[in-house]
Amino acid sequence: MLSKIKENVYKISGMSNCYYLKNYKIMIDTGSIEDREVVKKNFVKVASLTDVKKVIFTHLHYDHIFNFDLFPKAKLYASPKEMSDLKKDPEGTVLNKDVLNKFKKTKLIGLTRNHIPKELKIIKTPGHTSGSISLYDKKTKVLFSGDTLFYNLVIGRYDLPTSSPKDMYKSLEKLSKLDVSVLCPGHNYWSTKTLYFFKSSFNLLKSLSKRRPFIPSFFGPITSCS
Ligand SMILES: [Zn+2]
Repeated sequence: MLSKIKENVYKISGMSNCYYLKNYKIMIDTGSIEDREVVKKNFVKVASLTDVKKVIFTHLHYDHIFNFDLFPKAKLYASPKEMSDLKKDPEGTVLNKDVLNKFKKTKLIGLTRNHIPKELKIIKTPGHTSGSISLYDKKTKVLFSGDTLFYNLVIGRYDLPTSSPKDMYKSLEKLSKLDVSVLCPGHNYWSTKTLYFFKSSFNLLKSLSKRRPFIPSFFGPITSCS
């Protein structure tokens, strides 16, 4: 499904979500193997596949990186931490052998602020993976949160090979301080089916983090962008 979030911001939803920032010609994540046709079919309604100059991965899990090759002119970026984890523990970083085989031949560039427009801010949000990042558009107050934060208090898993509950908690705390108008997460997890797992894990996280619980300012009534 294709939806327009704001002027120049488009969302393509499948198993995972990808976002196209048309004015910057930046794609955030490229979806999973099942999403290939969905991404292709919907993207061409907005722009040409060759228009994309940069693909930024929020992290390197298989369901966020698969369709990078749909954008032949794009350079691919991930956080330097995610890239070093890919070297150290390829399978633990991608979580799928077939996707890893396809992906390991690609040239990744370590993302720094010099690679992106000044309106966009890179926020390190380790926890789901150690090199996870979120992107925040200071002008529109749109937050692209990858698999760190979803709608309605639903949060990402922190039991994966490079996960850390403590870091996840700190990252959520960091995100909760932002002034966010629209949350653009890596998946549309809000149904009761997924909620029970994630919501209970948020409570567990609070206890694991051994820190005082914080009051999330925007985790609840935030405009969803679906
Ligand atoms: Zn993930």
